[in-house]
Amino acid sequence: MKRSVTDYPLAGKRVLVRVDFNVPLEGGRVTDDTRIKAALPTITYLLDQGCSVVLASHLGRPKGQVVDELRMAPVATRLAELLGRPVQTADDCVGPSVEAAASALAPGDVLLLENLRFHAEETADDAVFARQLAGLADVYVNDAFGTAHRAHASTEGVTHYLPSVAGLLMIRELEILGRLLRDPARPFVVVLGGLKVSDKIGLIKHMLSIADKIVIGGAMANAFLAAKGFEVGLSKGAGDEVAVAGEVLVAAATARCELVLPRDLVVATEAVPGAPSRVAAVADVHPDEMALDIGPESVADFAQHLRSAGTIYWNGPMGLFEIEEFSAGTKAVGEAIASGVAVTVAGGGDTVAAARRFELEGRLTHVSTGGGASMEFLAGSALPGVEALMDRGGSSPAGRRPVVAGNWKMYKTRAATAAYLREFVPLVKGVDDRDIVICPPFTDLETALAESAGSNVAIGAQTMAAADEGAFTGEVSPEMLLDLGVPCVVLGHSERRQYYNENDADLAKKVRVALDKGLRPILCCGEKLEEREAGHTESKVRGQVSAGLAQVGQAEAALVTVAYEPIWAIGTGKTATPEMAQETVAVVREALRDSFGDAANAVRILYGGSVKSGNIDALMAQPDIDGVLVGGASLDAQEFARIVRFREPV
Ligand code: PEP
Repeated sequence: MKRSVTDYPLAGKRVLVRVDFNVPLEGGRVTDDTRIKAALPTITYLLDQGCSVVLASHLGRPKGQVVDELRMAPVATRLAELLGRPVQTADDCVGPSVEAAASALAPGDVLLLENLRFHAEETADDAVFARQLAGLADVYVNDAFGTAHRAHASTEGVTHYLPSVAGLLMIRELEILGRLLRDPARPFVVVLGGLKVSDKIGLIKHMLSIADKIVIGGAMANAFLAAKGFEVGLSKGAGDEVAVAGEVLVAAATARCELVLPRDLVVATEAVPGAPSRVAAVADVHPDEMALDIGPESVADFAQHLRSAGTIYWNGPMGLFEIEEFSAGTKAVGEAIASGVAVTVAGGGDTVAAARRFELEGRLTHVSTGGGASMEFLAGSALPGVEALMDRGGSSPAGRRPVVAGNWKMYKTRAATAAYLREFVPLVKGVDDRDIVICPPFTDLETALAESAGSNVAIGAQTMAAADEGAFTGEVSPEMLLDLGVPCVVLGHSERRQYYNENDADLAKKVRVALDKGLRPILCCGEKLEEREAGHTESKVRGQVSAGLAQVGQAEAALVTVAYEPIWAIGTGKTATPEMAQETVAVVREALRDSFGDAANAVRILYGGSVKSGNIDALMAQPDIDGVLVGGASLDAQEFARIVRFREPV
């Protein structure tokens, strides 16, 4: 589960909240404020925490142009009425005047930015634009579930620059929809309607393996009926869709999920109000007729299936419900959904409109605010706007997500890298409750990124320079890493400190630059054997941590990872005992608390030094160890996979 506003320290912070205020407007007024109301719990929670709140949303499709009719001012007016406090507006969403307005906010102030999509950079997930947005606040909250399936600057890009957590609406959506996938009360019945099978093919295929029944009405039922060989006349939804429906019928034949299709239909020769219509069995549709609703026998059959359901997910009307004559099927099925004891979830624009029209909304367990997003989520796809948020899960009591990182040092060619990852990626497939990182040599980064694309393995760099470019022979800049798509970088490894004289001041600069660029730094620290023997471990490690992170703000602390690596244990086969490792890692945590206060609780601390599959479980059982940095043992795919798959967190 993702970290939410309630489990991240936010008191007094300036918070950028991505909301979904894409509401209908008419004559300069908001005609439906459902989405604004849905964001109120998060906004009021933040205000109660003494935060100042910067709200960002898109509105309509201005396609990168300023469109006066799509300005946010009417939304600000309505929001101010609902909140009962003033809402400031800005003439843009980035730039100097917006920055000035944001930095002048006092606790309890609310600023609504101008339409994000007046800038083409928003939908292009432009890094510079994302950084400008991030510059307006200390923390980012995503409460816009409806746009979470888009990787845009305000949903994904911005998370590279700020600690990023989910809003209350986002959490509710993820919890309720997540339960449908994980643990639905059974029987789980999915009711689908609407125009095209192809729009919902991902959802249907995924639901065939999860749901007990899929009940299909609306125009998309025609494609299934045609695929079964029935005449569908002039009905919508057939045509090219028949082949897709046929594909589903084949998949359904071997699934344990039952597919339920209409038995009769309401047909007419025209889809207009007042058109003469009749009820026809599915085998009795004439070539000049079209199906515009399901018939009474289908309604009775569908209702029968719904009556015993434990969970119902409804997406799509049963017919052309906007026209009175063809609305009975949708109304009756909606009524059957709402009147049982099942957990009922509805999603999709038309479904929400139908639920509202038939006054069912308040009787459903949950009406999703995201049509496309809920469908992609239930189809089993990862939503970029959700994936990018910080995780709550993990083995530590503080809920920090474990990290297992491999440092390959100067080992492996491109061919060896490709071969390794082809073996390793399948070995760790499905391990999604911890971060897996491999840091190969610079020359292998591109190969490693290509081989790991789409997997749960992230690729990091082993070091970087602090400058973007210049006369630094042999160095690689942060821009170059970003250009490749590298998300994180190890800084201050003891070998870099020892052989290349990297010092704390250099590292403080590099950590700062990494954060500015959106790269997540892993800062290493650790004492030499003689320092340990002289009793200087604590002062050494404290000094390295506080100096290396000297330029990091409290709000950014969660973006940093620290690796404690006693130098005498690196590559020597001598491991600190788990208790020794814990003792010094606890010192690192104290040093972090001195620098960042409670925000230190979000920083992950790794142990490194001769970690292997034989000692990983004991190390990960320590309360302050959130993960490991592994050198030698990460060079073997099988061994590193065993380390990655350490004992499941309790
Ligand atoms: C390292 O290089 O960071 C390291 C810990 O190496 P090893 O695991 O080989 O001791």
